Amino acid sequence: MTSLLVTNIGELVTWDDERPVIRDAALVVEHGHVTWVGDRTAGPDADAVRDVGGAAVIPGFVDSHTHLVFAGDRAAEFEARMSGRPYEAGGIRTTVAATRAATDEQLAANVARHLAQMRAQGTTTVEIKSGYGLTVRDEARSLAIARQATEETTFLGAHVVPEGTEVVAYVDLVTGAMLEACAPYARWIDVFCEEGAFGADEARTVLEAGIAAGLQARVHANQLGPGPGIQVAAEVGAAAADHCTFLDDADVAALADSGVVAGLLPGVEFSTRSPYPDARRLIDAGVTIALATDCNPGSSYTSSMPFCIALAVREMGMTPLEALWSATRGGAFSLRRDDVGHLAVGARADLVVLDAPSHVHLAYRPGVPLATPLTT
Ligand SMILES: [Zn+2]
Repeated sequence: MTSLLVTNIGELVTWDDERPVIRDAALVVEHGHVTWVGDRTAGPDADAVRDVGGAAVIPGFVDSHTHLVFAGDRAAEFEARMSGRPYEAGGIRTTVAATRAATDEQLAANVARHLAQMRAQGTTTVEIKSGYGLTVRDEARSLAIARQATEETTFLGAHVVPEGTEVVAYVDLVTGAMLEACAPYARWIDVFCEEGAFGADEARTVLEAGIAAGLQARVHANQLGPGPGIQVAAEVGAAAADHCTFLDDADVAALADSGVVAGLLPGVEFSTRSPYPDARRLIDAGVTIALATDCNPGSSYTSSMPFCIALAVREMGMTPLEALWSATRGGAFSLRRDDVGHLAVGARADLVVLDAPSHVHLAYRPGVPLATPLTT
C-alpha cells in the first residue's frame, strides 16, 4: 500500500494558513506524510480508503515538556500537599534518590509505560528531560535511555543542586564533565531558574555552556514566584521559557519581542493547587504559547494532553481552538519543529481521531478518552 485516503472527516484541523479547520474533509497519506488535504467530495483515488464516520481528526499532540526518566512516585507528598502543606522545589531530591537506585532496565521500562499511556491519549511527539540523576553517570544514562524513546532529549543536570554540594562547584560540574558526557545524547539544554534552584548568573552560565556544546536552550522560568528566568531565556535566544506563572509586564514584553515560546503547564498548578498562568494576557500581547504536561512524579503526574487542554480552557482563559493549537502547533514551535503539530501537505502523518464530531469535545468532555492515534 502506498497511499491511504482518510475520508468522511467531520472536522479536520490542519493549521494550514488557508484553511486551518475544514468541515466534511478528507486527507491523503503517502509514505508517512500528508500529501493531499481538502473537501471530502474532492478526495482523490488512493490504494486504500479509511472512513472515520464523521469523527474529528486533529494533529497528534506535541508534549514539549516532560520528565519521564525517573523511578518511584511521590503520592505521599501529593496527599500531604492536598492536606494543606505547600510544594517546595526540594521534593525533587526524593525522586533523585529513587532514580539513582534504579537499573537502566527499570528506568527504560518506566519511560515505555508512560509513553504508551501518552500515545493512547493522542500524543505523538514527546520531549524528555534528564534531571533526576545529578551525577555524571546518572544524567548520562538518563539521557541515553530518553534518546531511545525520542529525538527531543533535554539535558537538565541543572534541575536542583544535589544535597551536600555547593552551587558553584555543581555548576562547574554541570558545565564541565557532566555536559561532556550528556551532550551526545541531548538536543537541548535546560535549567531550573528559580529561588532555591539556580539564579540568573548560574542559569546563564549553564545555558551558554550548553549552546557552546551544540545544544539549544530552553528554561524552567517563573514557576514558583517572580524571577529572572524569562529575561535570561530571551537573552540567550532560548526556544522556550516554560511555566510562566508569575510574570510582570517586562517579562510579557520580553517573550513577545524575543519570540521565545511560553510553555504553560497547567497540570502543575492543578497538582500543587496554585494560581494558573494568565494565558489570555500572553495571547493578547502576541506571545506564542505551547501547552505541555510537565509529566513528573512531583508537581504534575499527568501524561494527558487532553486534560491540560481542558484546564487551559476552564482555568486559563483559552478558547478550545487556542488550547488545541498550543497543544499541537505551539508544542512544535517550542521544539523548533515544522514537520509535526499540523496536518498541512508535507507534515508527518501523525493523525489523531477523536471519538467526537469536533475538537471542542476535548475540553467539553474532560477525562473522557476521546483521542486515538490513527495507524496508517
Ligand atoms: Zn519541568
